[in-house]
Amino acid sequence: MKFQAAITLSIITVIISGCRKPTPPPVEKTWLTMGTFASVTLRSDDAEKIERYHTEAARCFDEINQTLSVYRPDSEITQLNNATGMISVSEQTFQMLEKTIHYSKISGGAFDPTLFPLIRLWGFSGGTTPTNLPEVEAISKLRSNTGYQHMKLNPVSHTAGFDQPGMSIDLGGIAKGFAVDLAYDHLTSSLPANTLINLGGNIRCHGMATPDRPWRIGVRHPFDTSKTLGALSIASGMSLATSGNYERFVYIKEKSYAHIIDPRTGYPVKGMAGVTVLSTTAIEADAMSTALFVAGVENAPALLAECPNTQALLVPDKNPIEIWVSEGFQTVFTPHPEYADSVHLLDPYIEL
Ligand code: AMP
Ligand code: MG
Repeated sequence: MKFQAAITLSIITVIISGCRKPTPPPVEKTWLTMGTFASVTLRSDDAEKIERYHTEAARCFDEINQTLSVYRPDSEITQLNNATGMISVSEQTFQMLEKTIHYSKISGGAFDPTLFPLIRLWGFSGGTTPTNLPEVEAISKLRSNTGYQHMKLNPVSHTAGFDQPGMSIDLGGIAKGFAVDLAYDHLTSSLPANTLINLGGNIRCHGMATPDRPWRIGVRHPFDTSKTLGALSIASGMSLATSGNYERFVYIKEKSYAHIIDPRTGYPVKGMAGVTVLSTTAIEADAMSTALFVAGVENAPALLAECPNTQALLVPDKNPIEIWVSEGFQTVFTPHPEYADSVHLLDPYIEL
């Protein structure tokens, strides 16, 4: 594995149960892509259809990886990062960048792809794991090359760039969600089926798990990933994403540092263990899970108020466990009996 890190198979466990004949049982096909595991689950006994689902989903994910990956020297994002001025980008990448700026803005910069130099400094996204804690001066120097406000898009010339030299972006916090939406739109329109698409814990489902049961997803326990905190039922078309400090991390001087950077400090976020977001699109769930991981329990209600289609569950990194849920999340979430007393409702946000 490239990082000194653990990438869990999937952050979320798909719970499939209660299938009665003649309904075919759900079949799952799993493969490796974009540095993580992907799967399609289909309730179908048509082997050819399952194979086509896999092929088409894999094609969509490869397409996004080729254009948006910072690991590929030929991707549009690498070209953008290496350019000195505005450069032409494809329609798809332009849309992706528009959405990225949107989530950066509504999160007040908690989500910020321009943190790339700091992400690499801490040993992620192709950076080398530091043996010592990065120097304060190095962090503050790199921080001056960040800020999503410096990302510029020109819708007339279809170009993208930065208004300050030394800037670069990493779409690792949002690209998988974008890829899942692409696969979802393509597959559900061309090959209708009851299906669940999963790319490294970025999930979108269509239809039902069985004729009388919606898809049910288990939320992984961030302190013991062999357990679940509970499960939620997700309606057709909905998406789920999780950001966790156990997904990807580095060890420096025997202390673990998570892969999500706090733009206010330039250090990996402390104090959060896991965030699971339910939303109407996978891109929103992906961006918001990363943003809420930075925002934390205290700032979550204000951030959720910016995104009415989004519901969330947050677990701070503290013992005993606390599970904070928004009202809409609570209605679809069934906690494991062991954690029922640990569930708290996030206060609704009231603007003063
Ligand atoms: P996720 O697992 O979806 O929360 O995304 C985490 C990934 O997003 C990291 O591995 C980085 O590539 C990138 N990232 C880290 N911190 C941030 C941040 N504050 N805003 C946006 N992207 C980030
Ligand atoms: Mg994300």
